[in-house]
Amino acid sequence: MAHLQRASNVAALPHDLLTAAARTTIDEARKRIEQGALLERSEILEQAEITANAVAGRLLQPMINATGILLHTNLGRAPLGTSTIDAIIHASGSTNLEYIIETGQRGSRHDHAGHLLALACGAEAGMIVNNNAAAVVLVLATLARGKEVVVSRGELVEIGGGFRVPEILAETSAQLIEVGTTNRTRLRDYEKVINDNTAMTLKVHASNYRMVGFTEATSVAELATLSVPVVVDAGSGLLDRDTPWLAQPPSWLADEPGIRQTLDDGASIVTFSGDKLLGGPQSGIIVGTRVLIERCKQHPLARALRCDKTTIAGLQAVAIAYLDRDASQIPLWQRATAEMSELRARGNAIINTTLSLDRVAVVDHEAAAGGGSLPGHTIPSLALAVVVSDVTSALRHLRTRHHIVAIARDGRVLCDLRSVGPGEDALIGAALADLIATFAP
Ligand SMILES: *Cc1c(COP(=O)(O)O)cnc(C)c1O
Repeated sequence: MAHLQRASNVAALPHDLLTAAARTTIDEARKRIEQGALLERSEILEQAEITANAVAGRLLQPMINATGILLHTNLGRAPLGTSTIDAIIHASGSTNLEYIIETGQRGSRHDHAGHLLALACGAEAGMIVNNNAAAVVLVLATLARGKEVVVSRGELVEIGGGFRVPEILAETSAQLIEVGTTNRTRLRDYEKVINDNTAMTLKVHASNYRMVGFTEATSVAELATLSVPVVVDAGSGLLDRDTPWLAQPPSWLADEPGIRQTLDDGASIVTFSGDKLLGGPQSGIIVGTRVLIERCKQHPLARALRCDKTTIAGLQAVAIAYLDRDASQIPLWQRATAEMSELRARGNAIINTTLSLDRVAVVDHEAAAGGGSLPGHTIPSLALAVVVSDVTSALRHLRTRHHIVAIARDGRVLCDLRSVGPGEDALIGAALADLIATFAP
């Protein structure tokens, strides 16, 4: 099936892309002929097809995430559920995005998902922007321009993709006041520097690394005793530590602060991603006190960072799932909390229907939340392991022919089943059968 999809992609490529592929092929053939090569017409045609295939292969397309990293940033982070996708489709025409149906007057796009997500985590108010980086920028630009922002030296981090806390502060013309040391910062350190020009204390969740050993950090509750607002960049967006949408909180979530608890501890504003542990479309969520959120909404940058109707519709469905305490609508939580027995049954079913037992095994593996959440914590998982002659080529074959991203371990190819949707099992089976036939050791 993956083969057919690729082939049809090539056939359906716009004329200009095909022409460009043909030109590239002819130019390369010319060069080789000038260097004395003898080329058959059929060879050039074959090369043209390879080039066109490569062009089709670079288009945005569905992939299967068999890495075990549930929130894989390069693979588009959280998978969306049916109710989220339906909501997005339903919002694709005209909507009441900024329209009050009752009065016919102009409304606010923040009254939808922003309001519902605030409700779901116990905040007074909320708003949505394009991603969490944008959320942090907007909060700093609104509350801290020309003022001082106090940050622990232990939290002056690079979050990824060049998003560095000190640089963001500089961009928003806020003055960074560093306090404490890399490993230890106390309340007294913050207290000493607060003055009339201090806008806030900023806490950044160390989401993609973990400090262990001789460390000490100041809690949100402690910072809230100071005279300035506490702003928290929570990053991954676990709405509530108690996970009321699950039967019980999974142990690997242990160190992850909840948005609800951070607000309860006294944070004035908390920002987080929509497509990490929240399990929704790419977005940034800002929740907090009504007064401060209102100021963020009024800032000119809010216009530049706003989301479109489809994102807001998708997030509304996600917010409703949380308000219903129904994780069945959020694939991230389904995958993260699937029982090992369920993964084992899926693994065995794939083997029994498609594969020869002597080359494939179900093996223990460690999955992870990913997306910069919960560093150092793994989730027990299972993988299908296949013995192949050449792991690098086999992985490439899986990517290009079957659109599956798998992993290498001990000379075998592994497909972690926790990050694979149950609806994708048949494709994994077919791909591994092909792998076994193509890469016999
Ligand atoms: C992931 C993360 C960000 C960036 O969020 P995006 O939604 O990717 O823009 C910022 N801060 C923290 C702490 C994060 O974990």
